[in-house]
Amino acid sequence: MRVVLLGPPGAGKGTQATGIEEKYNIVHISTGDIFRKNVKEGTPLGKQAQAYMDKGELVPDELVIALVQDRLKQDDCKNGYLLDGFPRTVFQAEAMEKLGIDVDKVVDIQVGRDTLIKRATGRRVCKKCGETYHISFRPTKVEGVCDKCGGEVAHRADDQEATVARRIDVYLTETAPLVDYYEKKGKIVHVDGEQEASTVQEKIFAALGD
Ligand code: ADP
Ligand code: ADP
Ligand code: ZN
Repeated sequence: MRVVLLGPPGAGKGTQATGIEEKYNIVHISTGDIFRKNVKEGTPLGKQAQAYMDKGELVPDELVIALVQDRLKQDDCKNGYLLDGFPRTVFQAEAMEKLGIDVDKVVDIQVGRDTLIKRATGRRVCKKCGETYHISFRPTKVEGVCDKCGGEVAHRADDQEATVARRIDVYLTETAPLVDYYEKKGKIVHVDGEQEASTVQEKIFAALGD
């Protein structure tokens, strides 16, 4: 199974990815996570991407496409993959088709602007293992400490309100056209993301089938 998770920043893509990855035994590939890792490690790719990410803009298509193409060649993708945060432009979607990277289903997680701002500004992420929390909706047991690994839980640099607002606008202009794009291909399923995470998960499983 090859799945794409579509949805604005803060919609719950990363949160939902964990359960989907386990249930369908497919590998979760988040381009945002890959970029953040490169920024942290100071690689050439990280250096190129950082300025765009800090402003809430998209990283240029060529960089992203090369990265995904490379990642999907790895052995763990043979059983399928769950793309989270890619494609993000029609150009990226067309490029992946040309490269023979197929998609079976696209899950469109729908969440309104006010909720997105609350979710993204309250998001906290473990610096060590990447587990995601929320100050109100999914707090850690001990403030600032990851429940899973004891690592430090921090605010993402691009999760301040002004940058989140910019990212939502970028989503609406650059990424939202993909909903129509995949609708026409008959691949899209829409899920109301403004419900409890467990309810959203059930709806996604129902849409993807067993
Ligand atoms: P969110 O999960 O909040 O939607 P991501 O973690 O997916 O955000 O992405 C963080 C940032 O990484 C984006 O704002 C963008 O700068 C960059 N990025 C991630 N994926 C892509 C992509 N497919 N194309 C261009 N830029 C990307
Ligand atoms: P995305 O990957 O789409 O940017 P995340 O999965 O990181 O989104 O979720 C953004 C924030 O909202 C996180 O802090 C997460 O804990 C929280 N969150 C995710 N789904 C829900 C939900 N259904 N209800 C409440 N909070 C949620
Ligand atoms: Zn952790």
